Amino acid sequence: MSDFSRLTRRKFLYAAGASAAGSVLLKSCAGNPPSATTSTATDTPTAVNVAANDTPEVTNIKLGYIPIVESAGMIIAQEKGFFAKYGMTGVELSKQANWASARDNVTIGASGGGIDGGQWQMPMPHLISEGIITNGQKIPMYVLAQLNTQGNGIAISGIHTGKGVNLDLKGAADYIKSFPANEGRKFKAAHTFPNVNQDFWIRYWFAAGGIDPDQDIDLLAVPPAETVQGMRNGTMDAFSTGDPWPYRIVTDDIGYMAALTHQLWEFHPEEYLAIRADWVDANPKATKALLKGLMEAQQWCDQPANRPELVQICSGRNYFNIPPEILTPPYEGAYTMGDGQEAFNDINAGPLYWSDPKGNVSYPYKSHDLWFLTESLRWGFHKNSIADFDTVKRMIDSVNREDLWREAAQEAGFSGIPTSTSRGVETFFDGITFDPENPQAYLDSLTVKRV
Ligand code: CA
Repeated sequence: MSDFSRLTRRKFLYAAGASAAGSVLLKSCAGNPPSATTSTATDTPTAVNVAANDTPEVTNIKLGYIPIVESAGMIIAQEKGFFAKYGMTGVELSKQANWASARDNVTIGASGGGIDGGQWQMPMPHLISEGIITNGQKIPMYVLAQLNTQGNGIAISGIHTGKGVNLDLKGAADYIKSFPANEGRKFKAAHTFPNVNQDFWIRYWFAAGGIDPDQDIDLLAVPPAETVQGMRNGTMDAFSTGDPWPYRIVTDDIGYMAALTHQLWEFHPEEYLAIRADWVDANPKATKALLKGLMEAQQWCDQPANRPELVQICSGRNYFNIPPEILTPPYEGAYTMGDGQEAFNDINAGPLYWSDPKGNVSYPYKSHDLWFLTESLRWGFHKNSIADFDTVKRMIDSVNREDLWREAAQEAGFSGIPTSTSRGVETFFDGITFDPENPQAYLDSLTVKRV
């Protein structure tokens, strides 16, 4: 192991351990989370792009973020002055210890010491709106923009090298299913929060390989530091994770990458900006100002020439607090996969923020909300609350505010505004298709499911 990787690993585990400690602390005082570290822009440029009748009702908002590549658009909007340019001079970005903490903080709201909104895996905004993951307390939220596509993947412990645990799992299905007989335990896989993106990605991958994630393996939410330690000592086998973890896991010889989410579903929906509905309803102009700032930042993020500066800003102590060398490869689309697989060197394989070959990244397509909720039906998640497509449609129509995104983009004069709320038929790596016009046909076409 190089001195560099030893050094970076120590720093990395320290940072991850701090998150895990934050999670434990939160549990001990649920409902009253400790105030998170916050970052405000280092300078506050004067608003230069605000017509008199567009003046925001308020100039401040508190947005939560998780220190992973998904949050880069918000961080750049803050640090490069794009929020301020449209009049939002008092944005506060608040680092969240983990997803449960973000959920608890938005339930409280900024007025109670929490947050007004921020970064979410899907369909957290829908679940919070319905009170499904907030002990019945309904906090209506609006999905306003997608933050990014791609930048996630499935990491495998190095002890499985050479066993065929790769993108197409079919050849390794017997190896994984025979774990109880051979090892006295099931093959064990982790994600960071149940029933959202990371859980969906790894479930899709297992099921496509003929492995039932509810029966053939153990799949559970585990803090990242604990997962990585388990992968190191042979008690954890797989981790559904996002950049910059994949790079660390390979560089530090903890394991290899079985798949990038780019491979599972090219240009898939990933994480979103969503804000409490009471805040948006009270501040529609401020909402659109925020969206304009985010969209301009997302356009900035996708310029390859800006990526080195993006890495410098996001890796900084106020944000991800990691060595910039760790963030550079994903932003170049450079992924060493390991286990004899070909490496990626394609900027379109990594995180993107504004546009991709399938359309606009920032625009929150309703057809993507529909996929996340259809997948919830597939696995029987929250089935007492999400029982059928009528419920799903009602949830999407009350939570997805693509109309506000559209108005903001038009007012700002941005190009590339989608003409439909659907991105159309989606195709997965195993050939399965999802037609938003007929989600039941998608469910019918799947073999491993709970419906
Ligand atoms: Ca993610």
